[in-house]
Amino acid sequence: MGGIVHIKTTKALVAAGLVADAAGLDAVAAKYAIGITPAISALIDRDDPTDPIARQFVPTTAELKTTADERVDPIGDLAHSPVEGIVHRYPDRVLLKAVHVCPVYCRFCFRREMVGPQGLGTLTPSELDAAIAYIAAHSEIWEVILTGGDPLVLSPRRLREIMVRLADIAHVMIVRFHTRVPVVEPDRVDAAMIEALKASGKTTYLAVHANHPREFSDSARAAVARLVDGGVVLVSQSVLLKGVNDDVETLASLMKTFVENRIKPYYLHHPDLAPGTSHFRMSIAEGQALVRALRGRISGLAQPTYILDIPGGHGKADIGASTITGGDGCFTVRDWQGIEHSYAPD
Ligand SMILES: *Cc1c(COP(=O)(O)O)cnc(C)c1O
Ligand code: SF4
Repeated sequence: MGGIVHIKTTKALVAAGLVADAAGLDAVAAKYAIGITPAISALIDRDDPTDPIARQFVPTTAELKTTADERVDPIGDLAHSPVEGIVHRYPDRVLLKAVHVCPVYCRFCFRREMVGPQGLGTLTPSELDAAIAYIAAHSEIWEVILTGGDPLVLSPRRLREIMVRLADIAHVMIVRFHTRVPVVEPDRVDAAMIEALKASGKTTYLAVHANHPREFSDSARAAVARLVDGGVVLVSQSVLLKGVNDDVETLASLMKTFVENRIKPYYLHHPDLAPGTSHFRMSIAEGQALVRALRGRISGLAQPTYILDIPGGHGKADIGASTITGGDGCFTVRDWQGIEHSYAPD
């Protein structure tokens, strides 16, 4: 029942055995795009109504419920966009959003109002020219982060065009991609794609978005290995999601899976206040307790930073529970078992 079709409609969801009937889901589909790749469809256990993969990708009527604190632009991209496709919030790095399409549409997506067939689309050639010109004109930009949407939906030819232009900008040293493709469409990551991700004189980083260890199928692992062997440095990006990875077993296993696959855990995001996503959110106190439980339980190599993107465009904050209180002269430090120790150097 894994199927070979790319699911994009409620009818296709029914045909793939992922929902019993489409009733009620057409209203969801009218607001938010649906996308499930064959690789992801094959991972879903149809007999488990709480399957953590299904929960991330199969739409539900819970998405029709919005809460007062949710926002169309939860992390304030639009407030920091000097030209179409660029978000410049921190001095030394910019987001370059060339495309607002993804191979899958995650039900918790923080940019769900901007992505999909009805979203912001792909930059036109002249918009892309203006975005590259902006980067070239701002010598403080050390890093360009290609995100979207998912930049790896672009063909190797299109990616290479962008990389060649970035290679010409002397002050840009790092190009980072944020993508779900290695996990959701692993066969796309072929030799031509990997070559296209690299630019002469620049270092390429790629943040792999995955939220559950079961996303690492054999083909996903192979795609990740091709990237690392091809000279791309990999870091992880996950979202803490109720019903997907909100227990210490799953989180520990996810982080260890990253490390085993040569992906350095980077960020664990608290879910953003995107419309119709309240069923995915837990409290920050619950998130802090989970992150604290990881410390000591798994290797330091496997520890992510717990991050909140402050609503309104104020950037990211590290919200892992602080383990130190007090001030110069006398600090109290809490160890991984919760025991407090004083630290009072002369
Ligand atoms: C998240 C984000 C970045 C990247 O932040 P890092 O902490 O470097 O990963 C850069 N610019 C914007 C606008 C962002 O939202
Ligand atoms: S892949 Fe990223 S941008 Fe695309 S729907 Fe999922 S979370 Fe949103």
